[in-house]
Amino acid sequence: MKALFRVLILTISMVACAQDVEPMPVELDPLALDVVEASGVLDTPRPLDEEEEAAEEVEPEKPLDVPRDQTRVAVLGYHNFSKTAPVTQMLIRTSEFREQMEYIRRNKLTVISMQEFLEWRLGNRTLPARCVLITLDDGWKSVYTEAFPILKEYGYPFTLFLYTNFLSGRGDSLTPAQVREMQAHGATVGSHSVSHLYPSSWKKREKLGADAYAELVDTEVGESRKKLSELFGTVNTYCYPGGYHTPAMVERLASHGYVAAFTVIPGKVTVSEAALEIPRYMIFGNNSSVFRAAMDFRVAQLGTVVSTGASPGTLPTSTPPPPFLVSPKPEETVAPDFPAITAYMSGVAGVDFSTVQMKVSGFGRVPAKVDKATHAVQWVLPCRIYMPNLSVHVTWKSTEGTSHKAEWSFSIDPNAPIKTVNTTP
Ligand SMILES: [Zn+2]
Repeated sequence: MKALFRVLILTISMVACAQDVEPMPVELDPLALDVVEASGVLDTPRPLDEEEEAAEEVEPEKPLDVPRDQTRVAVLGYHNFSKTAPVTQMLIRTSEFREQMEYIRRNKLTVISMQEFLEWRLGNRTLPARCVLITLDDGWKSVYTEAFPILKEYGYPFTLFLYTNFLSGRGDSLTPAQVREMQAHGATVGSHSVSHLYPSSWKKREKLGADAYAELVDTEVGESRKKLSELFGTVNTYCYPGGYHTPAMVERLASHGYVAAFTVIPGKVTVSEAALEIPRYMIFGNNSSVFRAAMDFRVAQLGTVVSTGASPGTLPTSTPPPPFLVSPKPEETVAPDFPAITAYMSGVAGVDFSTVQMKVSGFGRVPAKVDKATHAVQWVLPCRIYMPNLSVHVTWKSTEGTSHKAEWSFSIDPNAPIKTVNTTP
């Protein structure tokens, strides 16, 4: 009986494990790549309802501008919309999109246009402390049929990042006429390349040498800008398909006259990030946690967000880095049998260790243990992990009661040699 019970427990935990470490669904459509890097974003802001209730009786008034370096902008990235189709990371329920726009209104966040965003970044204007920039990638027909009526109703400006091979009105794409109509009601057009290449295509081309690579970049970013400008007027912003970008790509972008380029690295924008690597929150249709994180303007940023530039062939991960040593390290690639996730917090002053929490993408809050002697916060992995990357989010309170957080991401190579026989250390 005991043995049976043990088998049962083992089976249950294996099932839980299998569910948790299932690789992210891989969509064959290249459009699906946009969210891959952002898939592990976690957060712990207050429930939306609380704030909504608090804001219920107060009619929104126009917030005052603050000095430029005090403004924080949450850039939101959306894709596809539907009233009925099953939601995915890439497809959000129209009603949920409306709720999000309503949340922005009730909480007196200022939705700014791309023009205002660029003027603020360049030092030509001030903005309120909490701003939102709405972007919609690819050019899905549902942007016109589902999102546009809502954006128009709220009077929110927005930016369409279009790729020119998906602009015929065929299939689920927008037509140039629909884009022009949206331009007349607050839309700015930005480029999202010509053909929305997979990272694997970029990497393949990179192997052929710097010239061949530069040639492909010139076609994808240059031709796209040219064609979109002919159709819709000046285009000077870019959004990396799939978030994939390399230093060489960033450099070519500047030479093509782009003044801002957007990634899928979540984080608030200040005046100090690199102009061609602007953070952005990709909003998922099947998980509201990223939207919540985007709307949380309370948490002080740990240090300045510094852009280090993605090294060739690597996908961007979270910024800023944690203010303590961690394992696996930010941007490290590990084998599926890595034993544990550890935050070495002994160097952090004034931590109330009873408040430390660890969340891991795909697992939610995990039972991390604090070593009282070393102040290492560690979660031992229950099984091998085959997700392409994991994001870790550690939160804690200081003994004075102030909240802090740190996050980082690392990659898992499913083909790396397995070292351990079983996964418990
Ligand atoms: Zn895209």
